[in-house]
Amino acid sequence: MSGPRARSTPGAIYDRQCTRCPRLAAFLERTRAQHPDYFAHPVPSFGAARPRILLVGLAPGFHGANRTGRPFTGDFAGILLYRTLHQAGLATRAVSHSASDRLRLRRARIANAVKCVPPANRPLPAEIRRCNAFLAAEIQQLPEVVVYLALGHVAHAAVLMALGLTRAHFPFAHGREHRLDATHWLLDSYHCSRYNTATRRLTPVMFATVLRRACKRAGLPPPGRPRS
Ligand code: SF4
Repeated sequence: MSGPRARSTPGAIYDRQCTRCPRLAAFLERTRAQHPDYFAHPVPSFGAARPRILLVGLAPGFHGANRTGRPFTGDFAGILLYRTLHQAGLATRAVSHSASDRLRLRRARIANAVKCVPPANRPLPAEIRRCNAFLAAEIQQLPEVVVYLALGHVAHAAVLMALGLTRAHFPFAHGREHRLDATHWLLDSYHCSRYNTATRRLTPVMFATVLRRACKRAGLPPPGRPRS
């Protein structure tokens, strides 16, 4: 498939022992000491091996992916995400409790802009740039992806960075569809965080609508109607 390419020669898409970001590595070390039952390592991407939709989030949540070892699993942000993926026929279950709950994604995969949990949920620009090498490598190794679905502006920028594209040409806005070339799209959504959903900045209908459009652009069967 022709189309935008990640910017470098493909490398590793994941390194469980990565400590390239000293601040995040130290935070994970403290987390392991305080919460021995937590995963507390870089969190790998999750989903189909040959996806048509790649969802990209910000970073693992402290008590979610950082605890369970699977993106958006076990915390508030995952509630709306997996429920909507299930409604769209992209997930086998509507609820994501743990990495061993046998939930599977179909034609979709979830990555994060930053693989290590950041203090206060805020990665530094240098950390986003460093971890982008993993995202770029992963994108290069997923040639069947048609739609990149960015959850929030940091993820939006990370996808563009990984593809070697300029942000100024593709400004973030919820619901916006950016045509990257003849076959590839970048779709934007507000992040499905607790804050965004509690304030109704992002409602279930808004999120389901974006996902429906992602499925349509990716050539996947239309899901059911969005539910409020
Ligand atoms: S955020 Fe990414 S680059 Fe930084 S330490 Fe974690 S896995 Fe490595």
